[in-house]
Amino acid sequence: MKRRTFLFKILAVATMFPLMPACLRTPMVSEAASPISPINKPHKEWRELVSPRAYQILFEEATERPESSNLVYEDREGTFICAACYLPLFESAFKYESWTGWPSFTQPIAGHIATKIDFKMIWPRTEYHCARCGGHQGHVFTDGPPPRGERWCNNGIALSFVPKEEQLPTLRG
Ligand SMILES: [Zn+2]
Repeated sequence: MKRRTFLFKILAVATMFPLMPACLRTPMVSEAASPISPINKPHKEWRELVSPRAYQILFEEATERPESSNLVYEDREGTFICAACYLPLFESAFKYESWTGWPSFTQPIAGHIATKIDFKMIWPRTEYHCARCGGHQGHVFTDGPPPRGERWCNNGIALSFVPKEEQLPTLRG
């Protein structure tokens, strides 16, 4: 009887944490406790949904040349969403002119971005990507304006802009 009670308890705990294996699978360092569930769509399946250049940036971690996206100059109110899965990543209120030629923000939408350290340059940099589809967006640096001092340096081609008066598209993927 005692053994049955013990087994019951194990089952009860397993039922309470059905998402635990998914969390353990994710080798990323999260920016915050993320309410977004990664969709784990194979990268190659995004090829038909985004432009070839956007694919290189989002899923092969390429970097666009400065000034190559119109979003550098986008100054309307609205939301910047992931060009692949349409998850909102940045609000226009936190965009600023960094004079780098890349769209820059002082902070992302909490929980919608995940980060990892990359060593593509000699020094380590903090790479960040969409928390939902994993699409690479840019790098975050610590030379941004106060109060947070962060500069989220984004590839414009990895984003789409939705003006405030338009409805956000349904997430895809
Ligand atoms: Zn995405």
